[in-house]
Amino acid sequence: LFAGPVDFLKGVVAMDGLPPADRPEVCFAGRSNVGKSTLINALTGRKALARASNTPGRTQEVNYFTLGEAAYLVDLPGYGYAEAPVAVVQKWQALLKQYLQGRATLRRAFVLIDTRHGIKAVDEEILSLLDGAAVTFQAVMTKADKVKAADRDKVLSQVRTALAKHPAAYPEIVLTSAEKGDGIATLRAIVAGIA
Ligand code: GDP
Repeated sequence: LFAGPVDFLKGVVAMDGLPPADRPEVCFAGRSNVGKSTLINALTGRKALARASNTPGRTQEVNYFTLGEAAYLVDLPGYGYAEAPVAVVQKWQALLKQYLQGRATLRRAFVLIDTRHGIKAVDEEILSLLDGAAVTFQAVMTKADKVKAADRDKVLSQVRTALAKHPAAYPEIVLTSAEKGDGIATLRAIVAGIA
């Protein structure tokens, strides 16, 4: 799936802008600064692929990338950005809800969690949305290189406990470091296995 070309297709701001639901897709969600762009770039083996989603004005867009012709990779806007105006947050939540509930070809959501911080209240909101939409989601820990092994285990057990309360959670947690390359091949294989 990742052997072929990976290209930016379009940024979507409303449901009617979504590309035709003609192939499987996976989406990536996470708090701003969780390392989502870096992880997507590592996954796809491209340096500047997801950077577009970080440029101002693009941040509230759902960004579609093509994995060859076989699948879509969807980069959801980062959430929990403290300075985002309420109206922007509400608009984004409405689009997210519509997207999660209405996208029949969505195979799985990957929710990125900073290994230093674990699951926060703002993450819980997304996890509940995913439960409500019955979209299977999988936690992906980012920046694992920044945390000592002992602390990592503590965070992982916090995450496991939190996930147990969510019916849509996939139990296996993926630990990654885009910096060191840890977990990237694993995540690629998971995506290739479901999309
Ligand atoms: P986004 O807002 O979620 O797209 O986050 P970015 O991908 O822009 O990453 C935010 C910051 O975290 C940047 O300074 C990255 O260099 C850094 N970062 C991302 N992934 C890793 C990682 O695996 N390890 C380390 N040490 N830093 C990372």
